[in-house]
Amino acid sequence: MSAAAGSITARNAIFTTPTRPFDVTALFPQLAPLARTTTRLHPRPGAPTVHDSSVGGPLLWPADEPWPYCDVLDGPHEPPIVQDGWYLPEPCLFSPEQVTDYPHPMELDNELRGRLEDMSRWAAIDPAQYNVCAYDPGELYLTNLCTAPGWKTGGWTRWSPGDPVDRACPECGTEAVPLLTIASSEWDGGSATWIAEEDRPTPGPPPLGARDGDFTLIDIAGGNNLQLHVCPSSPYHPHVELLQ
Ligand SMILES: [Zn+2]
Repeated sequence: MSAAAGSITARNAIFTTPTRPFDVTALFPQLAPLARTTTRLHPRPGAPTVHDSSVGGPLLWPADEPWPYCDVLDGPHEPPIVQDGWYLPEPCLFSPEQVTDYPHPMELDNELRGRLEDMSRWAAIDPAQYNVCAYDPGELYLTNLCTAPGWKTGGWTRWSPGDPVDRACPECGTEAVPLLTIASSEWDGGSATWIAEEDRPTPGPPPLGARDGDFTLIDIAGGNNLQLHVCPSSPYHPHVELLQ
């Protein structure tokens, strides 16, 4: 690792998502079997090599395989869209961390969704446990309990601002599941409990991208997420893209 990279971020950094304000499966045991592991990638500026998992870093490419070349282009092998450095992502290293996702309320069956919407069922939870991050239990579930924000693999689909839509595999009709989420930011004002312990404010200027949680400097169509879904029946079936 170069000295420059070390000064930006340590390789294999650890990021720790704080424990959720409370265990939602204690209140709604029917959610427990719906839990899915998701891997938050926590991209952070650094100097990735071909041996690192990264965004904006060099690719590990077989030495005996030619680099893909577009016959139409006559000149430098550079995508014509890249006109200046502002269109390039900040090279970032990934620091994977596994957390638990639960479905968006509108992906639950009617009975369970009704239970979640029944405010009397939340009466056991002292609002002091969450009132710094949400006005009411419904908002708390949506923004701070069900799906982790930011770059991640697996988990449940984040639906915001759109409502859930069908994600049938175009090849076989099986419902596709989240594969990779490319996010415009790792948190926003409403999802602050997902900010990793290591990103909590400290004295001094914040590191690049830390102020708004967008360390890669990638902006998906005005602050949205690009979520790629994969068919569980076959990885060779076409991916389903969601941009919202
Ligand atoms: Zn399929």
